[in-house]
Amino acid sequence: MVDVIIVGAGPVGLSLALGLARAGKSVVVLEKDPGLHTTSRAPIIWPRTQEILADLGVMDRFESASIILKQFTMWNADSNHKLISLPISELKDQTHFPQILILPQHKTEALLYEALKAYPSVQVHFAHEVTGLSQDSESVRVRYATNGTSESEMVASYVVGCDGAHSAIRAALGLELDGITYPLMAALADVKLPYNDPNWVFPRLSVKDVPVVAVQIELGEWRLILPFTQDESITMDERVRLSVKNLFHQADYSLIWQSEFKLHQRISPQFALGRVALAGDAAHLNSPVGGQGMNSGIQDGALLCTALVKAIDTRNPALLQPNAEMRHAKINFGVNQFTNILTRVVMLSKGRYMPWVLRILNLVLKIPSLRQKFLMKLTMLGD
Ligand SMILES: Cc1cc2nc3c(=O)[nH]c(=O)nc-3n(C[C@H](O)[C@H](O)[C@H](O)COP(=O)(O)OP(=O)(O)OC[C@H]3O[C@@H](n4cnc5c(N)ncnc54)[C@H](O)[C@@H]3O)c2cc1C
Repeated sequence: MVDVIIVGAGPVGLSLALGLARAGKSVVVLEKDPGLHTTSRAPIIWPRTQEILADLGVMDRFESASIILKQFTMWNADSNHKLISLPISELKDQTHFPQILILPQHKTEALLYEALKAYPSVQVHFAHEVTGLSQDSESVRVRYATNGTSESEMVASYVVGCDGAHSAIRAALGLELDGITYPLMAALADVKLPYNDPNWVFPRLSVKDVPVVAVQIELGEWRLILPFTQDESITMDERVRLSVKNLFHQADYSLIWQSEFKLHQRISPQFALGRVALAGDAAHLNSPVGGQGMNSGIQDGALLCTALVKAIDTRNPALLQPNAEMRHAKINFGVNQFTNILTRVVMLSKGRYMPWVLRILNLVLKIPSLRQKFLMKLTMLGD
């Protein structure tokens, strides 16, 4: 019988698998999709997550693959002025990694998957869709279908649902995500520019025709983040065209990928029941404003890994509960409240007041103690 079955090969499932493998545990990852993902989704890796990547022995690979920012500077492309500048390097006494890594999520997943290949105790099975589970005092049975064919079963001491927002594991436990869906939506578009100035400071912001923030995710490739509400008549293509014109003062670009999605703040009432635990989007969803979603999921996985190792070694599944309760409180009163405040600020006039808000924030954060507090929160190093 395998120690742990992880359902879902997203960043949370893969990083948890790596942590368990390094602790000498046997792991099977079941992933419904036929292979790794190819879309960029979450591009920011905060210092707290970098500390976890260092513990997992992969930080060198991440630093080599990423764009590294020592300073968080928001540039107003409409007025060609700096709006706010936060020196992440000021956190050098708090962390070994006072920096932001910018890396598209599919590259994060690929690096973690590559690192897992060094551990024969881990198997990753693609095209395996989990359909249900049952547990008793000794083990958990997981049902899965391969390529839509008839169902099979696999048994483990523990199961972790890292299977995202529509988690089959959470549903099998009879748990639902409670919370709200914001009236504001977000459109994301990744564009490639024919001309890319190496001196452009980012994130870049414009509110001229449509409110937009842009982050360079690879050399010459930019993520556009466009808040909007459903009553707007302007098409997505037009929003992207106006954004490129205002942010980069050029007309040409090629669209790599785009998506529109609702913003939620939701949480499962419990993160563990018996021998089954939840982590990442399966356990909680927060607004992507602040870039905390993937990061908090990887942090769930790191804490859960420690709890699982203890539970496996002592054959005591009750050891999952204290971690689950502690993590639930941290997400509910920490990450979700912080991203809620940031999201509501963006919602003010659909993002059009952002330059004013950032200017005021820049002034307030000139006070060193407040700046330190805000930076610790943003980088996820503090409570
Ligand atoms: C379009 C988009 C843009 C985003 N942008 C940002 C951003 O800019 N910043 C940010 O912080 N966050 C962003 N997010 C959120 C971020 O991507 C998630 O927080 C992160 O992916 C969570 O990781 P996860 O491993 O928990 O879940 P996922 O990445 O969702 O991985 C879950 C995995 O489980 C698999 N799975 C699902 N059901 C089953 C099943 N029954 N059996 C087996 N496998 C299953 C899925 O195929 C998937 O591979 C974005 C999300 C989307 C969709």
